[in-house]
Amino acid sequence: MLALSVRGFIASHPLNRQTIRTMATARRQAFETIPSSPIRVMRTVDAVRRWRKPQYLDHRIVSLVPTMGALHQGHLSLIRSAARESHHVVVSIYVNPAQFGIKEDLASYPVTWESDCKILADLDRELADDGGNLGRISAIFAPTTPEMYPSGFPGQEVNSKGSFVVITPISEILEGGTRPTFFRGVATVCMKLFNIVQPEKVYFGQKDVQQTVLIQKMVKDFMLPTEVIIGPTIRESDGLALSSRNVYLGERRREVAPVLNRALKAAEAQYLNGALDRKQLMNAANAIILNDLNKQSALPPEKRVMFEVDYISLADPFSMEELTAIDPEKGGILSGAVKMLPVESPQPGEDLGHSGGPTVRLIDNIILKPSTDI
Ligand code: AMP
Repeated sequence: MLALSVRGFIASHPLNRQTIRTMATARRQAFETIPSSPIRVMRTVDAVRRWRKPQYLDHRIVSLVPTMGALHQGHLSLIRSAARESHHVVVSIYVNPAQFGIKEDLASYPVTWESDCKILADLDRELADDGGNLGRISAIFAPTTPEMYPSGFPGQEVNSKGSFVVITPISEILEGGTRPTFFRGVATVCMKLFNIVQPEKVYFGQKDVQQTVLIQKMVKDFMLPTEVIIGPTIRESDGLALSSRNVYLGERRREVAPVLNRALKAAEAQYLNGALDRKQLMNAANAIILNDLNKQSALPPEKRVMFEVDYISLADPFSMEELTAIDPEKGGILSGAVKMLPVESPQPGEDLGHSGGPTVRLIDNIILKPSTDI
């Protein structure tokens, strides 16, 4: 009682009222935002937890869109879907070193913080103007590596020791066959992000189909209380799937890069015509690839683009294990990866792409729907 009346006396004094107002304003603004937007930038686990708790108590739906930045329309389509279905969208921007092999492109991976912030501020205004959305982009979570790995970063080597989430056998096949630490890194960072943000819904792109299968399995097997929503692959008009890594291509390789999508579409056409046998689908895909390789090989070095096929796969939609024939009631996943090699005989002034145009690994996929859904 005494404490209350003393507090009342202090608050009623005009000078103190001003101080209290100033302190309240300072408290309200004690967080970083993206310039010209109300989007918060949270850099620590603690900041996210403090922001998240009242949303939980208010029964607000919080969703998470994990990204590595270098944002493009593929990311934005996931954020748009999330805003339609949740009160608060959190976008994480974190280039997770654990999912890069020691010889991969971690050092040159495009970091475009300023333009990402502008893209998100513009998208947030678009979301605010569109009455069909439940929410908007409330926050970016952009942690540092020491924040994400509080016991110290365990390293990128295959035999690194540390706290990892490992989902097998899915992590060992296809993308995981060439990139042995990739899915360990992805599962580990996603488990951390899910635990930090505690989203009701998480959004992933179909473009990284093996990642979507892995995340769904992780959520199921570890009983994580989140719904996994998969958004469609967003493409350029010539079929090339958007990817942050496309900036490495440069003009010459960009022309040839849709070859993987064309090969997968040729195999899909076989399925849509009734073919179920692996050989028939693979022959159609391989014919496109061989034809393009022959065409390129016939060109002089200063004009040609050489590429290597890592794999073309026809796999089960749930396990991603290879199929010899498609069960039309289950459908399948056609996927592939090609390595676009650095161009030969670069010409003076030629646009070689980001970081001098290193080898670029492109992936893509097409879902073969069960015949009952076609
Ligand atoms: P990244 O920043 O490459 O880690 O991608 C973040 C999220 O965006 C992942 O769920 C990706 O699958 C998704 N994504 C990337 N490219 C595309 C695309 N072209 N279409 C749809 N989603 C995509």
